[in-house]
Amino acid sequence: LIELRGVNKHYGKLHVLRDIDLTVGRGEVVVVIGPSGSGKSTLCRAINRLETVESGSIKLDGRPLPEEGRALAQLRAEVGMVFQSFNLFAHKTVLANVMLAPIKVRKKKKDDAARQARELLDRVGLASQADKYPAQLSGGQQQRVAIARALAMDPKALLFDEPTSALDPEMINEVLEVMRQLARDGMTMVVVTHEMGFARSAANRVVFMDDGCIVEDRTPEEFFTAPRSERAKDFLSKIL
Ligand code: ATP
Ligand code: MG
Repeated sequence: LIELRGVNKHYGKLHVLRDIDLTVGRGEVVVVIGPSGSGKSTLCRAINRLETVESGSIKLDGRPLPEEGRALAQLRAEVGMVFQSFNLFAHKTVLANVMLAPIKVRKKKKDDAARQARELLDRVGLASQADKYPAQLSGGQQQRVAIARALAMDPKALLFDEPTSALDPEMINEVLEVMRQLARDGMTMVVVTHEMGFARSAANRVVFMDDGCIVEDRTPEEFFTAPRSERAKDFLSKIL
């Protein structure tokens, strides 16, 4: 579904993505881990073209990413992204936040968008919070609203960039549980996270990045029991 071949990107002299090859099949869950500054966020942002790359190809469903205009907006709808900060609209209710993009981008009727938004809020365990404002919710609840909002666009894939890093420990699991359920439902997901329990239980593959390179790309069993590279061993010894 998502295919990167020989992708390179610099910020000035800094080579942040080096010859990246990565394939994510339909329904696959790929967890991306690695030290700070290794290029994980840049990789995610390149996949839905929040960043441009200098060389190589990135394809979705066998087609190169669109450059601009309507097709680019369409791509952003098809490849949803969930960030560390939830970026909800503070002056809109939870329900309105989830309805917004389907009405604006997909031209859905208000009734239909509202019905779908309620279903999605139910799916992330927030049916009873629909009429509240984001500030009235916990961080974990806000992040689940952000996931519902991404799902409202009926995406082909979802990218998560450290979705639980800004949360208090007791809220992390409720978000991970929603993500595990999405994985079980067959959603294609690329997840940057430091939650190794999630990687072990939900990932089909673990991709370890260091210094702009993909150093390992293997099953969680293989990766956690016997990392091949010194860099991965070193990284794991620090976080496990
Ligand atoms: P973290 O775990 O801290 O989130 P990361 O693996 O997500 O790190 P990136 O955010 O992809 O790393 O950044 C890779 C490198 O590119 C870092 O050295 C970062 O400082 C640099 N970088 C990121 N964005 C920009 C930018 N807009 N301009 C210049 N340099 C940038
Ligand atoms: Mg990052």
